[in-house]
Amino acid sequence: MSVWYAAQQSLSNFSILCSHVLVPPAMVALLSSPDTLIDGFLAAGHVCAVMGYAEYEPIAATYQTPIVVTGFEPLDLLDGIYRTLTALEAGQYGVENQYSRAVTRQGNVQAQELVRRVFEPCTRQWRGIGPIPASGYQLRPEFRAYDAEQRFEVINLTAQESPLCIAGQIMQGRKRPSDCSAFGTRCTPEHPLGAPMVSSEGACAAYYHYGQHRQAAQPMPHEVSIG
Ligand code: SF4
Repeated sequence: MSVWYAAQQSLSNFSILCSHVLVPPAMVALLSSPDTLIDGFLAAGHVCAVMGYAEYEPIAATYQTPIVVTGFEPLDLLDGIYRTLTALEAGQYGVENQYSRAVTRQGNVQAQELVRRVFEPCTRQWRGIGPIPASGYQLRPEFRAYDAEQRFEVINLTAQESPLCIAGQIMQGRKRPSDCSAFGTRCTPEHPLGAPMVSSEGACAAYYHYGQHRQAAQPMPHEVSIG
């Protein structure tokens, strides 16, 4: 909306550094990797409130994976995990909407239309995974005047990933955050080395904040990705 309004008002002193990502291409990349151990997904409720969940249906069918659209309250998360595990135990797959008080299948169509008028898909670099085609949004050419990457010529500026970070393996369900040699020592929420330690819902940050409540790690029959 800010870009749209800036264009409407012909502003010349406004720009954004755009790092948007699209969830479905990343899910496909994870599920098509022969190394992945992900059995099911909790789809982020706030994303689906805008985007709906119809895009997830072919993914669930193709990879025979349960995907549960889930809210963020503690009971929502418990319910989402319960529904995912119930589907896995029954050998069922498909998309289920746990967060029906905020999410519909089609989502916020007007918001989607505006997003598509302002942005277009682009390749995006995913930490620990690499570039995934059409997994991000960049400003369309008619809005490029507001693109900070172009305007300040920082398009080739890249951040070096820490060689210690195993975020890619964590996303694939192959490792736990506590398996990382930097976890809780060189990498903390105050000084994160990787994206999963940055935001409060990141897997490493969650392990850091709540891991002291865990029993000794037990092998889990299923890995469920929360994203
Ligand atoms: S603990 Fe830090 S360095 Fe290790 S995987 Fe998580 S984000 Fe990366």
